[in-house]
Amino acid sequence: MKEGVVIKSTGSWYNVQTNDEAPVSCKIKGKFRLDELKSTNPVAVGDRVMYSVDQSTGTGVIEKIGERRNFIVRRASNLSRQTQILAANIDQAIIVATINYPVTTPVFIDRLLASTEAYDIPATIIFNKVDRYDHFHKDQLAEFQEIYEKIGYNVLTTSAKHDEDLECVKDLLKGKVSLLAGHSGVGKSTLVNRVEPSLNLKTGRISERHHTGRHTTTFAEMHPLSFGGYIIDTPGIRGFGLFNIEKEELAHYFREIFKVAPGCRYYNCTHLHEPGCAVKEAVENGEIAASRYNSYVSIYLNRDEKYR
Ligand code: GDP
Ligand code: ZN
Repeated sequence: MKEGVVIKSTGSWYNVQTNDEAPVSCKIKGKFRLDELKSTNPVAVGDRVMYSVDQSTGTGVIEKIGERRNFIVRRASNLSRQTQILAANIDQAIIVATINYPVTTPVFIDRLLASTEAYDIPATIIFNKVDRYDHFHKDQLAEFQEIYEKIGYNVLTTSAKHDEDLECVKDLLKGKVSLLAGHSGVGKSTLVNRVEPSLNLKTGRISERHHTGRHTTTFAEMHPLSFGGYIIDTPGIRGFGLFNIEKEELAHYFREIFKVAPGCRYYNCTHLHEPGCAVKEAVENGEIAASRYNSYVSIYLNRDEKYR
């Protein structure tokens, strides 16, 4: 048996790679399907697996799945409570945003950040296309940067047109398994292609909104980087879920809210309307950014469902 990492899945076949060898197409042992009733796919990109190879066909069978350090899921379909595991063993999430073209709203960023907190995946925010920002956009950028750095997130500002910015992106990706998230058109593929030209990811893809409604069969793929590390590509997937998180838990995933919440009068304070709420007090005195609090409220009240 060999040990390798799943770098691509097409539903029933998995490409498993061991070191620098060519990937082997593998099926999974039938019994995993039964074991893992809660998710529609028992094996995901990023999984470390043990597999055996049939010498006559050159294909393999996945015999064992290693324990996952973390994994992200989405709803398997709009109507079902079943989940699909998108990827496992992720070192970092990179949220690519733009102030304009297209507009990335704070609540979109904050939902992704809450998800990465929930999944225990370190996150970096990249504001891309800075070459297109006017003075107004630059002020907004500075504001965002201050908000997210203050609560401890790594923030980069880039333009795919500036070589020195690309060096920073390369340093960020080096040696790590990275998941890129963000709206269609913010420049995810462009940035990756610029640091790894051999990848040639499709840029200017058609609107992903087209896909997300029906959750058509899109599968994640892990692209190896020549300078070490992998990019997880999830075509057609804008975000990943908070749907499996209870409302009461949400405050845990807004780190600055979580920090001051012990000061609330009621231990089960929702931070929406209770008297003696330390969170609302922190918002009023500027310690917690209003935009972050507003994101918390709108996610709590399900007002931004469309971003799910
Ligand atoms: P993705 O959907 O996030 O992968 O976005 P793409 O990489 O397909 O980029 C969408 C469009 O934005 C393409 O036409 C890119 O050429 C353009 N683009 C990407 N990054 C930048 C940038 O930093 N500055 C400018 N001006 N355009 C960019
Ligand atoms: Zn409170």
